[in-house]
Amino acid sequence: MPIKTIFLDRDGVINKEINYLHKIDDFEFINGIFDACLYFQSLGYEIIIITNQSGIFRGYYTLSDYQKVTQWMLDQFKYNNINILDIFHCPHGPNNTCDCRKPKPGMFLKAKVKHNTDMEKSWLIGDQELDVIAANAAGIENTILVRSGHRIDESNSNARFILDSIQQSKQIITT
Ligand SMILES: [Zn+2]
Repeated sequence: MPIKTIFLDRDGVINKEINYLHKIDDFEFINGIFDACLYFQSLGYEIIIITNQSGIFRGYYTLSDYQKVTQWMLDQFKYNNINILDIFHCPHGPNNTCDCRKPKPGMFLKAKVKHNTDMEKSWLIGDQELDVIAANAAGIENTILVRSGHRIDESNSNARFILDSIQQSKQIITT
């Protein structure tokens, strides 16, 4: 059975946007994230995180730094009874020719194959247009941008919905 998935960007959606965040001490969850994720789970969604981490390529932090923050973040989700099915990160930079760095759809497509995801029933929640572009290219039409991260050029966005934060997505995602 294909699964339906909520694909979450990390910085600006799960945690407050800080440039090149790589320390647990700097990681601050956005209000309502756990509540929203519990709600998605109650509707039968799996949750997968898709995140660009070019700070690794740029040498601002190491893969190990990233993994420590990730493990800590997953623990916090677990304490709140939320299961994150998987996390995909792109460690490359804008000048690399990888196929994973958003706005390219590589990480979404990898997730689709690995977890047999039904993209038509899945959602993307991001804070930048590149999240929407990547999701659309991977066959996800249901897209939400939240204003809790980067500033959004709302008149030029292809997002289906633009909301103040992930908390409001409970009113949009109802089945
Ligand atoms: Zn990449």
